[in-house]
Order: sequence, then C-alpha cells, then structure tokens
Amino acid sequence: MDSVHLHGTGVVPGIAYAPAAWTRPAPAPARAGQPIPEPDRTAERDRFTSAADAVAGRFDERAARQSGEAAQVLGATAALARDRGWRRAAQREITEGTPAEIAVDSAIEGFVTKFLALGGLMAERATDLRDIRNRVVAELLGLPEPGVPTPSAPVVLCADDLAPADTATLDPSLITALVTRFGGPTSHTAIISRQLGIPCVVAAGGLDAVAEGTALLIDGATGTITVDPDPAWARQLAEKDQVRRDEIRAWQGPAHTADGQAVQVLANVQDGAAARKAATSEAEGVGLFRTELCFLTAQSEPSLEDQARIYGEVFDAFAGRKVVVRTLDAGSDKPVPFVSQDDEENPALGVRGLRLGWISSGLIERQLDAIKLAAERSRVSEAWVMAPMVATVDEAAEFAAACRERGLKPGVMVEVPSVALLADQFLAEVDFFSIGTNDLTQYTLAADRMASALAHLTDPWQPAVLRLIRLAADAGARSGKPVGVCGEAAADPLLAAVLVGLGVTSLSMAAGAIPSVGAQLGHVTVQRCREMAEAALAARTAADAKERARAMLD
Ligand code: PEP
Ligand code: MG
Repeated sequence: MDSVHLHGTGVVPGIAYAPAAWTRPAPAPARAGQPIPEPDRTAERDRFTSAADAVAGRFDERAARQSGEAAQVLGATAALARDRGWRRAAQREITEGTPAEIAVDSAIEGFVTKFLALGGLMAERATDLRDIRNRVVAELLGLPEPGVPTPSAPVVLCADDLAPADTATLDPSLITALVTRFGGPTSHTAIISRQLGIPCVVAAGGLDAVAEGTALLIDGATGTITVDPDPAWARQLAEKDQVRRDEIRAWQGPAHTADGQAVQVLANVQDGAAARKAATSEAEGVGLFRTELCFLTAQSEPSLEDQARIYGEVFDAFAGRKVVVRTLDAGSDKPVPFVSQDDEENPALGVRGLRLGWISSGLIERQLDAIKLAAERSRVSEAWVMAPMVATVDEAAEFAAACRERGLKPGVMVEVPSVALLADQFLAEVDFFSIGTNDLTQYTLAADRMASALAHLTDPWQPAVLRLIRLAADAGARSGKPVGVCGEAAADPLLAAVLVGLGVTSLSMAAGAIPSVGAQLGHVTVQRCREMAEAALAARTAADAKERARAMLD
C-alpha cells in the first residue's frame, strides 16, 4: 500500500510515529436565542462573570504549576480573560437582553476584528482572544474545555493552530510531535516546540483530511508527514531518531566542532526567571535579552529603578558571564502600551525598535542608564548592549556613542539588509554584530514573519539571507569583531553548522535548543561546515539549500 505524504514547513527536527490526536473543537458559534427577560438579566450577567472567572482562574492555576516562558504565557492569557474591555462589552449586551453565550461571541469578535486590522503580534492576540471565547462559551454551555486533549498514550498533536496557552502546558512524554495547518517558522507554536524538543511541522497542507487516530510519521526536519506508513519502517526510523535524541539528552557543553573549534552557545531570555532557568542549562551566557518582553503590559515607562531591578536579575543569573542586553524592540509584532503607535499603516516598516527614540525623546538613553546602573550593582565587568532595527550607519554611531558614554559595549542587530550590505562601515562604529535572522529574513524576502501563507519565504535557509549573513560574518572576520546569530536560525542544528561555516562566532537560542545544536556541531569539522555553507549558498531555493547541506552530512 502506498502511503500518502503531506508536506509542511519543518521547524523542529526529529522523527515521531504515533496516532493523530486533534485538539478538541471549539463550541459552535452561538445562535440567536430568546432575549433574556429583564428580571433575569442580573443573574445572566453573574453567570457570565462566573464562567469568565472560572476560565481565568484555570489559567492562573496552570501558570502556578509552570515556570519561565510557559508561566508568563499562561499568566498573560489569564489577564486577557479578565480584561475589562471585552468583559464590559459582553456585560453591556447582556444588560440589553442578549444571552451570555451570544454576548461573549459578539464582544470578542468585535475585539478580534480590531486586533486583526492592526496586524503583527496584535493579530496573534486574536488567537488568544478566540481561545478565551471558546473556553468561556464551553463553560457557559457545560461542555468540556476545548483545546489540547490529555491523552493516556503518546500521540501526534494535530491542530489548525495552537494558542500560546495551549502550547505552554504540553507534556513532551505524551505529545511526541506537533503538526499545525497554519503558523510559520517563527510562530509561537514553533518557538515553544523548540523549547520542549518536540518535532514540529507547521503550515501542513492537507492535514485537515487526517482523521483522529490515524498513524502518522512526522519528520520535523523535512516537514514531511507520512499518513499510515509501513509500521515496521516507521518504528525503525523513530527508534533510530531516539538514539539521536538520547545523545542530545546526554550532551554537555561547551560546544565545539568535531575538530575542536569552540563555538559559543548562548541563551535567549526575556526576564530574570527565564535567565535563572537558562543558567542551569549548558548556555555559556545570554546572547539576547529581549527587554521589551518585560513590559508588554506596562502602561507607562518603567522607572529607572524598576528597569534596573529587572535587568539586574538577568545579570545576576549569569554573574561573571557574557550577557547581551537588547534595548527595547517595541512596536510591530511586539507592541508595548507605553510606546505604542496606534495608527501605523505598516507597523513592521514603521517606528519600531531603535526608532522609538525619535518619537519618545530620551527613551533609549534612559534605558541605557538603567542598564548601566544594573551592571554596576551586579558588578558586570563588560555589559554588552545592542540596538534592534538599525538601518543606517549614523544610527549605529549615535547608539554606540550613547553606550560608550556609559561604559557599555555597543553592538547592533543585523535585521535590516542595509546593515549586512554596509557591514564594514557599521563595524567601524560598533564592537559586535548579532544577526536577527527572523527579521532579516522578513525584510530580505519582503514577507511578514507572522503570515503562515508566506512560511516558504520566511525561511532563513533562503539563499539570499545566507548571502547577507556571509557579508556580515566576513566583515566581522576582517575587523576581528564577533558576529553572532540570535534569531531562530541558530536553533536549527543543521543550519547552525552552516552558520559556523559562514563565519558566525556565536549562536544564541532558546536554552532548550542548545543540546541539539551542540550535539550536531560535535559531528562536523569546521571544514565540513564551510563546505555545507558553500553548498547552501549556491542553492536556488531554501529547500534546495537545506537539502544540499543535509546531503553533505550523510
Ligand atoms: C530576530 O529578528 O531574529 C530577533 C532575534 O529578534 P525578534 O525575534 O525578537 O524580533
Ligand atoms: Mg527582530
């Protein structure tokens, strides 16, 4: 019997063989019902409030059982479930006689429409809001909570897309792989699966035809899903992959190539809790501290003292080791209320990242003051600080001067192609580069990183992106300055080898991805990395580049 192969974008490598389990469906949209009689409306409002509180409370309980990013995601969803905006809108409708289920539907859809119009991360929040809608309506109807099932034996979890709250509680011993119909390589689903080390394929075409319980073989490296494969063959592949995974589990740093060249592997963190967790991993330091993620709900600019306390937690977690702090990368997919730009036509190309300093005078300088204060208190001998969304040499020079005045070591992210193209001039101004491949890919291919329909474009294996990385790394070698990668590309073990071959000196990623990258590097010599890089650079397509690099490993 010939098996059917489905294809998606493989974002977390690994092979899994198990039956499909779909996320539990959301309750059907509520249909217009009889208006609630006037005397019963208060009780109906109370019924709504209890249901919404129950949902928020369950998120709180889950958050309390988790730590780091998972706890943060669940806490943020609990806050959204308590958000006064949509709740008031629902209560208003109930007061006018609308049954609670219908009021929840229409209040949330109103907000979703607004969020979708804003695009970027706000659009992603639409997924969270709809998730809350589904849970509140299910609660009102007395149905089981929709979302991820709790299986008793290992499964491949299939979903249209997963809300952050779903992915935060996945148990990797039961959910052996994750396959979604939508989502892209930098979507939340991809980031969380990478942290958990679960093979993951997103934007999988034809997945909707796969029935519950169908045996699936998932290859998270190639993005191939084999439906009803030959069981003996599939089991053998999954077992072989298990050997690789066991090696990864046992891997210990520091990372080096097979011939002993050290490659610095660092962690991406977003707060003190994540940094403390990362400090227990094999991370040699922090390569990207996303400071804006500390302030996603801040309505006003945090004081110098508040900022310094938060930054100090990260410095302290990695005392005596390298920590690269990124100044606020607010805007576009990471809106921060106190510096939000509500009326931008095209937020990804708008006033975001370093550019916020143009509309909010002194914002970046005040953050640098706080970083300096935190570094002094934590006795950091050399605090590395980098700016996001830099586009011109003058911006880099101005940022570098502001850092140096405060005794901070300045760098810039390579996210806009202009930086790679003029890399020598930029490196004459700053002390290091950190390549943000997520945005570099978005801007090189002119493809929104949140758009699942463009997942084949927002792929850092695109040869044009690799070529820009080569330009940046070559300039680093000429000037003797470090050039790291801190985008999701660094967490792809095969691509990590190619990046080393391109001349990149450090790789920063979710701490959970470090062992698989470290183990892979241990199997390749520097010479082989260079050959893989040349092969990938010569490719015409992202898929071709990946295949050529993989072939050189075999
Ligand atoms: C990047 O763009 O690759 C990056 C690391 O920054 P962020 O993902 O936070 O935009
Ligand atoms: Mg970026």
